[in-house]
Amino acid sequence: MAGRRLSRWGRVWLAGLWWLALPFTVTESHGCSLAAHATLPVTLRMGVFTLFQPRFVWLRAHDRPAALQLTGQTFRLSPQMTCRIEHTASGLVIWQGNQLMAASDRLTVAAADVTLEVVGRKTRVQRQFQGTLAITALEKCLQLVVTQPVDAVVAAVVSAELPPDAPLEASKALAIVVRSYVAHQVGRHAGEGFDLCDSTHCQLFLGDQWIRQEAGGKTGGKLSVVAQKVAADTAGEVLQNVDATIYSAYFAACCGGRTTSPDVAFGAGLDQSGVACRWCKASRFFTWTRQVDRRRLARALLAETSVTDDIRIEVANRTADGFVASLAVTIGSRQIVVPNHRFRHLVGQQLGWNLVLSSRYVIEPRGDALVLRGHGFGHHVGLCLDGSLAQARAGRTHQDILRYYFPQATVGPCRVGR
Ligand SMILES: [Zn+2]
Ligand SMILES: [Zn+2]
Repeated sequence: MAGRRLSRWGRVWLAGLWWLALPFTVTESHGCSLAAHATLPVTLRMGVFTLFQPRFVWLRAHDRPAALQLTGQTFRLSPQMTCRIEHTASGLVIWQGNQLMAASDRLTVAAADVTLEVVGRKTRVQRQFQGTLAITALEKCLQLVVTQPVDAVVAAVVSAELPPDAPLEASKALAIVVRSYVAHQVGRHAGEGFDLCDSTHCQLFLGDQWIRQEAGGKTGGKLSVVAQKVAADTAGEVLQNVDATIYSAYFAACCGGRTTSPDVAFGAGLDQSGVACRWCKASRFFTWTRQVDRRRLARALLAETSVTDDIRIEVANRTADGFVASLAVTIGSRQIVVPNHRFRHLVGQQLGWNLVLSSRYVIEPRGDALVLRGHGFGHHVGLCLDGSLAQARAGRTHQDILRYYFPQATVGPCRVGR
């Protein structure tokens, strides 16, 4: 399982980036304007390697030559050869070894013909995609956009999110949720020239094949045949509202016993009721405990905290369904109240994303430390992945699973066309 999915820590790190959706984009991304989409786009433009903001990438041709289309010229990359695309002040240039081969401001290539490689500060990532790849020189970095059919994106997401032995019905349920989600979110990055980004801000998207090398370790994965089949078998099916518009559907790793509404989880957005879930009880994330030094935690929230300060950090308010709404942070004579989504954002940035795994938790003092005991992993909205796997293993169908987590929605075919 681990070989085909992100490492546990990789998933924790990436899942922690959910806060990127908050709150500066939340009005655009969860607002009513997007709910009007009643048709499914034919293709999606996925911004890839968006967190890297690369200044250079490598392209490697496969067993046949790759034709790189530049403005007014074509550069042919021979089989198994690699070239380096570099950002410059005046556009992008293509290098082979030390030889400058071509210059332009944009190139496109059949994505299936090349492997793309990006090197970060501590990581080296290779990915392969279907469709068309466009590389454009922006002011400070290269922008990479892959255009591919919606169901190719659905299959890639299902493949990356579920274990290879996932029951078919759980895979179908997720395929329909992902299709609904991407259709609802189309155009979120329209101003930047693509539809969705590949981080958890929009949708974690790794393409058809990927290898990540980090700290001496290597993880990777490949598009599964099952994921392609469920994307094809459920083609066109989406979750819908009563007025036949596409339902704003989400999924998360484990709800820990209860899902909630987007407005609770994200601090803004739609009001959709959550459900009680007894199916994820066997998940390793159903309950969790973490411990942190209270001064360390206070400094993550208020940098000027002194070691002599008397510090209290408590849950101030909860929602009716038990999720933390805000926290009271008392340092000496000062007290601030921090919304929970802001708290998780600050703690994640400063102390890592493996400390506050969800928004349903209690805080207990223990000497100089604070103990956090919580339920679930992720934002708690929509489909509970671990719960849906358990339901499918118990013989429930994908329709049963979707009715369970989305009682306000129905499943039906959607008109195709942008
Ligand atoms: Zn995004
Ligand atoms: Zn659950």
